[in-house]
Amino acid sequence: GGRSGEVEKGREGSRGPTNIPERVMQAMNRNNEDHRSPAFPVFSKALISDVKRLFKSTKGTCFIIPTTGSGGWESALTNTLSPGDKILTYRLGQFSHLWIGRMTRLNFEVEVVDLEWGSGVDLEQFRSKISADRSHSFKAVCIVHNETSTAVTNDIGGMRRILDSVGHPALLLVDAVSSIAGLDFRMDEWKVDVALTGSQKALSMPCGLGILCASPKALEAAKSAKSLRVFFDWGDYLSAYKSGTYWPYTPSIQLLYGLRAALDMIFEEGLDCVIARHHRFGEATRLAVKAWGLKLCTTNPMWYSDTVTSVLVPQHIDSGDVVKLAWKKYNLSLGVGLGDIAGKAFRIGHIGHLNELQLLGALAGVELVLNEVGVKVPLGSGVVAAGTYLSKSTPLIVSRL
Ligand code: PLP
Repeated sequence: GGRSGEVEKGREGSRGPTNIPERVMQAMNRNNEDHRSPAFPVFSKALISDVKRLFKSTKGTCFIIPTTGSGGWESALTNTLSPGDKILTYRLGQFSHLWIGRMTRLNFEVEVVDLEWGSGVDLEQFRSKISADRSHSFKAVCIVHNETSTAVTNDIGGMRRILDSVGHPALLLVDAVSSIAGLDFRMDEWKVDVALTGSQKALSMPCGLGILCASPKALEAAKSAKSLRVFFDWGDYLSAYKSGTYWPYTPSIQLLYGLRAALDMIFEEGLDCVIARHHRFGEATRLAVKAWGLKLCTTNPMWYSDTVTSVLVPQHIDSGDVVKLAWKKYNLSLGVGLGDIAGKAFRIGHIGHLNELQLLGALAGVELVLNEVGVKVPLGSGVVAAGTYLSKSTPLIVSRL
């Protein structure tokens, strides 16, 4: 309630999940444009082709759909599979849990491996599961690359090697929502069949674009997949690509201009430099958590995530209080613990348009709040640990050399 102006004022600066860069905001600040004009296809063609670079793909085909990550899930599933098709998948946190809900509601036969939240896919277990499926009953393996709720990154390349070593033909469908443009992702090298993301994550844009990359094998599967699909049908996009109109329905012009600016910024910094920056932020944040004497939700270093850190609080503390106080007192947006770890963990996002000093500021805020809710961590301890590491590892800004 309250007067809307005041609410707005109080919220200013509290941002999540990512900060939108000024350049992207300015790029989106424009009038509508006729997407059937002779000029627009030139812009569209370059955009659809350039976005592929984020996936490290040359062989794939991208679809930029007015939707969110969840729409991307539906698009990936319905375009490649038929009702009753068997899917092998893992529940390791809230987002994999929600995706499984979609698979079930879309009438696929879902075999779920439940993992302890905080753990990722154990490759040897995956190997036994896949080699036991001699009749190739699994039509797809669906996996969340970076489980945003628990800060677990799965080894997609490792899963691909196992599929190949036993000659299993299942499609590999990957939720890369909190990884594309933040974590190393190699669509072609790992022979991922569909990867998808949403614009509000590492691209640091408003929500509203679901971006998919489909392999030639996925496009082939789409020809015979019988799932009902209408709005998300890749076929409509492919026809529009062929005819050179590019969009089967009205695209979100402003978001597309924002995407153009976001891509330009990522390519100017260099995609691998962006990925390295996220790695430094992941390391720095984990060092801070260690200095505070707290535990990570992620149970093994091999699954550490460089886009988000999930921190467990001592048992007598409600992690929700940490998040609430951070927001109310310091205008700092932390992530709540979701699902099974509600109340037990809070999350520090370090994804997208963020620099070293912003991260150190956020860590300083977390230290204050922890003390105020009764977790007595020495003030400055995390900032010193993270700062010492960042000061040694941060390169000069390339454009200012
Ligand atoms: N998958 C992952 C890993 C996510 O982190 C999210 C959202 O946070 C989603 C899927 C769902 O995306 P959306 O909320 O854009 O539908």
